[in-house]
Amino acid sequence: MPGRIVKLLLPVSCPCCGSEIRVSDKGDICPGCRMNLEVINSYGCLYCGRPVRGPGLCGRCGQLEVTSNIDAFYIACIYGLNVKKIIINFKYGRRRYLAGELSEILAGCWEELQPRGFDFLLPVPLHKTRQRERGYNQSLELARRLSGVTGLPVSRGVLTRERKTMAQVSLGRRSRSGNVSGAFRASRRASGGRFILIDDVATTGSTLRECAAALKKSGALRVGALAVAHGR
Ligand SMILES: [Zn+2]
Ligand SMILES: [Zn+2]
Repeated sequence: MPGRIVKLLLPVSCPCCGSEIRVSDKGDICPGCRMNLEVINSYGCLYCGRPVRGPGLCGRCGQLEVTSNIDAFYIACIYGLNVKKIIINFKYGRRRYLAGELSEILAGCWEELQPRGFDFLLPVPLHKTRQRERGYNQSLELARRLSGVTGLPVSRGVLTRERKTMAQVSLGRRSRSGNVSGAFRASRRASGGRFILIDDVATTGSTLRECAAALKKSGALRVGALAVAHGR
């Protein structure tokens, strides 16, 4: 996060509305846009991630009798305009410092819903080529910051993305699941572990489900998911 001195020397703009962040403003988005973050701190459907009242499947997935390897799903926000702009600036606009704002949103969800029964935070891995292009893995940036709040260590190297997939956002619903199918592999170190996956956006839940499937295949006992936002 740019400190006070940096803000004085180099004006920082709000990633949502573009207005200048004043030195007196707390954080990296302007107070007006902070008011309009659509925070819900909700359970997500274990299959598709859609916000639901309590742990379980949403009505639609319940009717389809789907199964999921995700044992608990938590969603902090609706993927509304402001959160979307923060995430896009964070991932594609090289504003790595926005991990601070986003991990605070995750921390708020953690404090409210108090996920239990996990030993490790597990960031959704990027393919190594994509990580090289971007310079960092956004989910790892979030997990690192959240580690201090949750007291859980960040698990590294247990899960890898073997295939370079297309950006989920560019695909329709059906091709999204095909796109990430079999893309992840978990090492034997996952055996007996209880992991909570950390991600920025859960669009259809397919990426997180694939991660969970790979972990369970390697013997993980329990897999949860925590995402900043759900939606498209
Ligand atoms: Zn703003
Ligand atoms: Zn659902």
